[in-house]
Amino acid sequence: MQKKPFGLGDIVEMKKPHPCGTNAWKVIRMGADIRIKCTGCEHSVLLPRSRFEKRMKRILVSANEPE
Ligand SMILES: [Zn+2]
Repeated sequence: MQKKPFGLGDIVEMKKPHPCGTNAWKVIRMGADIRIKCTGCEHSVLLPRSRFEKRMKRILVSANEPE
């Protein structure tokens, strides 16, 4: 399985959208657990890193890259 690089402040898309209809989450805490916040309704979720990596589909906006 390929590991996708992600970092603090990135906007990511998950395999399942939030019930509010938004599928863009901002990474607001890194560590053994990852906290992401729905950009639609500001609801935040804490996930173990392994689960986050399984559920993440792709990075929409990388905070560390200009584009
Ligand atoms: Zn939401």
